[in-house]
Amino acid sequence: MTLERLKAQLVACSHKIAFRGWVANHDGNLSARLPDGRFLATPTAVHKGDVDHTMLVVIDESGAVLEGSRRIFSEWELHRAIYRARPDVQAVVHAHPPYATACAVAGFSLAVPVMVEPVVSLGVGIPSVPFFMPKSDHGLATVAEASTRADAVIIEGHGPLAFGPSLETAYLRMELVEHQAKIQTIARSLGGARPLPEEALQPLLDARVKGGLAAPQEAKVVSSDPALSTLIARIVAEEIAGT
Ligand SMILES: [Zn+2]
Repeated sequence: MTLERLKAQLVACSHKIAFRGWVANHDGNLSARLPDGRFLATPTAVHKGDVDHTMLVVIDESGAVLEGSRRIFSEWELHRAIYRARPDVQAVVHAHPPYATACAVAGFSLAVPVMVEPVVSLGVGIPSVPFFMPKSDHGLATVAEASTRADAVIIEGHGPLAFGPSLETAYLRMELVEHQAKIQTIARSLGGARPLPEEALQPLLDARVKGGLAAPQEAKVVSSDPALSTLIARIVAEEIAGT
């Protein structure tokens, strides 16, 4: 894909995030990995609905701007933590969509799988990490670790990040996170969402690996660990206990 085409995609995703109501003020940021190891990113201090291709910046991994006249957003370290932990990830999207962010600020976990499709598309659940101050090394390490278990992460007291092999996929995963959060919020008023049966998880995770959707670490676990269902059961039990 040419740089011009990628810029057009980044602008389109930025506008979609704005028009979906997933950001306010200058919230949200998007980036994509370039084949030469640099990154294309949205600039700081611009509403995502107003971003155009002339405003985008090309940065190195440290966040230094190599091309463009604007500054990089201050949450670049969040994106970088995921790119480092997930060499397969080519794009990261961060926004504050209302339902997912409501779950983040309320400490309501989305880590327990309650529907089939998100398990295949995102992983066994959407992990949350505790709130941390921006640029905290420990906090960034928790995001990096969580990113190896699923294709989206929620930072408590902050909001979600979604990522994948393309900008479009990262955007769609953010949509799925928000949709899940909305469904689970509504389900709470009906008595709460019920976890998927444990025996449903392994076939879904197998489908995820077969579909090439799993993080490399997940694929390794599925293919080499015959006790995975026990592991998943433990993770689910821990997450239920933590909610
Ligand atoms: Zn943020």
